[in-house]
Amino acid sequence: MLNLVLFGPPGSGKGTQAEFLKKNYQLVHISTGDMLRKEIQEKTELGLAAKSLMDKGILVSDEIMIGMINSILEKNNSAKGIIFDGFPRTLAQAQSLDNLLTSKNTKIYKCLMLEVSEAELKKRLALRGATSSRPDDRDEKVIANRIQVYRSQTFPVAEYYNQQQKLIKIQGEGSIASISAHLKTAIDKQ
Ligand code: AMP
Repeated sequence: MLNLVLFGPPGSGKGTQAEFLKKNYQLVHISTGDMLRKEIQEKTELGLAAKSLMDKGILVSDEIMIGMINSILEKNNSAKGIIFDGFPRTLAQAQSLDNLLTSKNTKIYKCLMLEVSEAELKKRLALRGATSSRPDDRDEKVIANRIQVYRSQTFPVAEYYNQQQKLIKIQGEGSIASISAHLKTAIDKQ
């Protein structure tokens, strides 16, 4: 299986590039943020619990997220590969993902990290906030908090994949097509 972690701060273009990768390599796209927003929309118990955290830009608990990934993996046993977008966001999630994949005789192939300057991230998120229905894109303080949470809790996950020699850094600024091309080159390189 071609399992990829698409990694990077909020606003780095993970969702956009995941669409390209999904089509180009016929992969299943798993976005934990989208899954949580669906739970909120359907007013499930999980959705209600997650909403107050998401609105503040705080992470949902590892236990909930790992449970969610476990059940979605069960449903995608025959996929050619999976793009993980927005997961793992903590070291505990990264370790659990490795354990889950090992139990299915598969593994993460590469972790692709989109690098974008903080000024550009804030600009993109504010722009997205003007048009999207996401409350967490509409408040400057929440945006700043999400970037801070990324730095403190999520960024260490990059080192986790670096130690496994799976981390590839990709310049996340420039045209969407050129970033897609860089991702493709990185994935195709043995
Ligand atoms: P995203 O759409 O990936 O930016 O995620 C939006 C929000 O959902 C985040 O700010 C978190 O509150 C929550 N979330 C998404 N994925 C995760 C995850 N893997 N672990 C914890 N919280 C998450």
